[in-house]
Amino acid sequence: MATTTHTHHKIFRGDSLRTLLSEADLRGGVRQLADEIRDHYGEQPITIIAVLTGAVVLLADLIRLLDMPLRIGFVRASSYRGQSTSSGHLVVDVKMLPDIRNKEVLLLDDIFDTGRTLLNLLHEMDHLNPATIRSAALLRKQGQQQVAIEPDHVAFEIPNEFVVGYGLDYNDLYRNLPYLAALDPADLTLHSTQEHSA
Ligand code: 5GP
Ligand code: MG
Repeated sequence: MATTTHTHHKIFRGDSLRTLLSEADLRGGVRQLADEIRDHYGEQPITIIAVLTGAVVLLADLIRLLDMPLRIGFVRASSYRGQSTSSGHLVVDVKMLPDIRNKEVLLLDDIFDTGRTLLNLLHEMDHLNPATIRSAALLRKQGQQQVAIEPDHVAFEIPNEFVVGYGLDYNDLYRNLPYLAALDPADLTLHSTQEHSA
């Protein structure tokens, strides 16, 4: 099998990427998430709501490991971030949400960083009266949390670095990288007024 580094050199665009989680690591983590979700819900029907856009790769892999009756839907949360990522104002778009009233809902995001995105989304969706609402994230950044909640399921703890791949982007690129990589801070330009696409 060719290494991912060689088969994907065209998408690097000169940025320095360092692999944090290989494709095999990610497969194992997603399987662990699926096992935990199955242990919790059993054969109950569930609705998985994925946070656009970063969670779509995870969603596609995760749902194929689950065999209960399952519906999917999407929600978008965009933060308009200032110099400090913590002060971002979050805009939640629920237009793509299916009806979640009286449903067992699992909110799925790519990464739990400050936690504000998940906290806000859980709060917004709670207004729509799901039967239950829980959360899962593929990644959790160590030491970054600014909220009192934690996801119910996390596959990997990662250090506080900016990561791309497996759905996560930098300026909308790198989502198609099949593994998770840290982007060299020297390649990160500061975006003081840029809209952050979640
Ligand atoms: P939070 O609200 O928890 O601070 O941020 C969560 C959102 O920020 C994630 O859904 C993701 O879109 C984005 N995010 C946080 N850290 C990273 C990162 O290292 N890389 C990328 N690409 N997105 C991140
Ligand atoms: Mg996101």
